Amino acid sequence: MLKVEHLGIAVKDLANSIPLFEQLLNTPCYKTEGVESEGVKTAFFQLGESKIELLEATQNTSPIAKYIEKKGEGIHHIAFEVENIEAEMKRLSALGFEVINEKPKDGADNKLVCFLHPKTTNGVLIELCQEKK
Ligand code: ZN
Repeated sequence: MLKVEHLGIAVKDLANSIPLFEQLLNTPCYKTEGVESEGVKTAFFQLGESKIELLEATQNTSPIAKYIEKKGEGIHHIAFEVENIEAEMKRLSALGFEVINEKPKDGADNKLVCFLHPKTTNGVLIELCQEKK
């Protein structure tokens, strides 16, 4: 894996959280983007080589809505950038990690993504992401 690409933070309301994180990080949000398949709206902040991604649910069935219901707002996932997402998915499932989706899917910010189930990663939801070429 190449680096921590971003940290995903679940929030109830982007309209409140974007200005809050702009103040906190002292840097403007450079992009907001909906990801229909996940039922979320995202907002991104660049911090050096890494990013912060805020996620707000747009549907009750969204994983983010369920997460906030159960645990409240907070850190939702860590995303690692990889060079070849399919190869990493194969490598990790062979080691016994549970890859949640069978194939990489379209994520926010021009990425192919997949997730590892927290039950095989010490409770941390892990996203693998690869820049789309
Ligand atoms: Zn993410």
